Amino acid sequence: MNYISTRGNYERVSAAEAIRLGMVPAGGLFVPEKIPAFSQQEINEMKDATYQVIAYRVLEKYLTDYTGQELQEAISAAYNRDKFTHDVIAPVIKLNDNTYILELWHGPTAAFKDMALQLMPHLLVKAINKVEIDREIVILVATSGDTGKAALEGFKDVEGIKIIVFYPKDGVSKVQETQMVTTGGKNTAVVAVKGNFDDCQSGVKEIFGDKEYNQLLNRHGYQFSSANSINWGRLVPQIIYYFAAYVYLLRDGEIGAGDKINITVPTGNFGNILAAYYAYRMGLPVNKFICASNDNKVLTDFLKTGIYDINRDFRRTISPSMDILISSNLERFLFEMTGHDAKKINQWYRQLKEEGKFSIDEETNAKIKEILVGEYATEEETMETIKETFTKYNYTVDTHTAVGIKAYHKYLTKVVDHTPTVIDSTANPYKFGKAVLEALQGKVKEKDEFKILEELKELTGKEVHRGLKGLEEKGVRHKRSCSSTGIRDEIKDILGIK
Ligand SMILES: *Cc1c(COP(=O)(O)O)cnc(C)c1O
Repeated sequence: MNYISTRGNYERVSAAEAIRLGMVPAGGLFVPEKIPAFSQQEINEMKDATYQVIAYRVLEKYLTDYTGQELQEAISAAYNRDKFTHDVIAPVIKLNDNTYILELWHGPTAAFKDMALQLMPHLLVKAINKVEIDREIVILVATSGDTGKAALEGFKDVEGIKIIVFYPKDGVSKVQETQMVTTGGKNTAVVAVKGNFDDCQSGVKEIFGDKEYNQLLNRHGYQFSSANSINWGRLVPQIIYYFAAYVYLLRDGEIGAGDKINITVPTGNFGNILAAYYAYRMGLPVNKFICASNDNKVLTDFLKTGIYDINRDFRRTISPSMDILISSNLERFLFEMTGHDAKKINQWYRQLKEEGKFSIDEETNAKIKEILVGEYATEEETMETIKETFTKYNYTVDTHTAVGIKAYHKYLTKVVDHTPTVIDSTANPYKFGKAVLEALQGKVKEKDEFKILEELKELTGKEVHRGLKGLEEKGVRHKRSCSSTGIRDEIKDILGIK
């Protein structure tokens, strides 16, 4: 199985090479040349398989240059009871007759990023060995919150790799910051940047493109790579849980063999929903995908009008992991929807860069609408949904999951659809505890975020997620900070380069 660029500007590469490179160097994203598939019978036969076995079945189709043993090792190292506190890794909870919640936050950091970032480091290490690079890999991460901690946990103490995370000093919550700066491991570094997320992100991106700086690092035995969802190594593990969810529903008798389901995904960078789409292309019976957005509803508008337009105000919301205007992975989806038309992709993304918008053709638009619908939830609707879900089902959801539930409900007001629907729960409610507590009981006076978690625990009776428990008592291990123009020097200092 080979991987090609969405912009037609790179040679075919193996999976290991795509994972090592992260992104196509000249711009563009790696996608599988041909999407592999399961027969309906093969899917039915997975009915009694464990998460780990399903993982193997999916990965072996995409990572054909990895040996069976390499895949097994990576899977056992990632999806075990030390890392995930649930036997089935990603359990499906029944909310009512037609609605199921897929809990993706049983990993170490309480957000769904763990589903991929627990596995990806193992894939990357094996990729490096395959292409015989003798330099140490330095993963650079710019984070607005969830990715930083999940990447730190995933790459902590992984041989041959260093990880450096940059976060905006005043742009993350106290809980998120504490999660990051208390991380152990000999190969981790965390730096607070005086500036906002964009300063971190552009600082890091500039470094990826800085030839001279990269050469300096190479001379010292280092090479940069990336751990965000533009990397195929982060997407492929996410396909697994869509098959697992389907198989679990089959096993529990909630659906019959071959029955279609809907999948609702609270969406930011379009990575999670794209993984669901790949599962569908591989044979998973899906009726509709519901792409859920918050007030930054670029995608909702795009799915209605065919015009992708980021000329609008960026809104800070209570579902911050979805506060994004440019959903990187949409490019991969459009590449599929146009039948691999790299010319169109180049044209649209040039327009996006120059004018902040592009408009797709009628034919592609019609094709997208057959399978994908977009809905969004306002801040108020998100809060109401948290409250309603708790009152009706005694089930607590975080703000992102609530956006998904609301979007599904809005979809149901427009069409009659009795298809069983799986809604992704992308974070544990304690990760966004303040907003959740306010949704449940009104304005919260308490300022200390850790005390708020205790209040939420009293109210819901649910244990605080282990990744967030006792955080305030853990020692701070990372105290570095720099200005947005000081990122290059900070990296040199961390790596001991003069
Ligand atoms: C990252 C994240 C999302 C968005 O996922 P994408 O793959 O970027 O669409 C949604 N919810 C939470 C809690 C997240 O951390």
